[in-house]
Amino acid sequence: MPAVLGFDPLSKRSGGARRLVLSAAAKINLVLEVLGKRADGYHEIATVIQTVDLSDRLVIEDAEVLELRATAPDVPRDGTNLVLRAARALCEASGVNRGARITLDKRVPVAAGLGGGSTDAAATLVGLARLWGLRWPPARLAEVAVALGMDVPFFLRGGVAVGTGRGERLEPIGGTALALVLVSPGVGASTAAIYGGVTPAMYSDGGGVHRMVAALRSRRPAMVAASLANALERVAAPQYPQVRQMEAALLAAGALGAAMSGSGLTVFGVARSFDHARQIRARVARGSWRCWAVRTLSGPAIRVRA
Ligand code: ATP
Repeated sequence: MPAVLGFDPLSKRSGGARRLVLSAAAKINLVLEVLGKRADGYHEIATVIQTVDLSDRLVIEDAEVLELRATAPDVPRDGTNLVLRAARALCEASGVNRGARITLDKRVPVAAGLGGGSTDAAATLVGLARLWGLRWPPARLAEVAVALGMDVPFFLRGGVAVGTGRGERLEPIGGTALALVLVSPGVGASTAAIYGGVTPAMYSDGGGVHRMVAALRSRRPAMVAASLANALERVAAPQYPQVRQMEAALLAAGALGAAMSGSGLTVFGVARSFDHARQIRARVARGSWRCWAVRTLSGPAIRVRA
């Protein structure tokens, strides 16, 4: 059953696109450091965040009410879905009094550390802004984005960036084309629960981010592989043995290095080339694990397809 939220009927304005197809790319964290705990209870982090070509697909159509249809069984269909939250937030911020029918074809695993909900939210903002003819400067859309989640502003830009604060303060950096293998164990982890397990012994000083920035500049996959780091692995791995098992499987299959993305549980391995990534994926695939050979993306995370 689609979730339907009551909205006032459409104004009968005509012109402009009435249907948009968008792709919304996932992200990985090449490095994720926890620097400390803030007065507001959240952790201060430093991360290198990178989009990859594993994407959800959204179709956004003009409609009288706001409505979501989603393909995946494990994605919420009610008002808590980030697609609906983004649409409502944009209505409120813009004063636009229209609905939309949004069909979400979920390909990015849910609660997997790949930012799937956040990229869907960013795609909804980009799509509706275009459908509604909002000619906003990027900073105005980013303000709506950050209220939806710390990763959402990143997806409005894409590429590769250093994120600080709670991850929302972004500085775009030069990336390098990488081929990767993603492995997701088929069970999700709660971001809040993983952060809840962080202790001061896991804090670091931001040096890992600097090393990764230099490694990306070298354009050598082996240097990038040697610089991967994620403090949250120390929380996730003892609770979820799959994390180390997936990393070990990637390394045994020839990956140059492996690490967990975000709060997990997806792990990724760095390959020498896309062909190499495909070979690794074939060797690692087993049981309930879901595996993808992907490339890093340098352009926008959200692409309008039609
Ligand atoms: P985080 O951004 O917290 O690191 P994540 O990348 O690990 O999250 P998501 O796939 O974004 O994982 O899911 C996080 C939570 O958001 C899940 O509990 C899920 O139920 C909820 N959620 C809401 N909307 C969506 C959506 N459109 N796609 C996926 N999850 C969603």
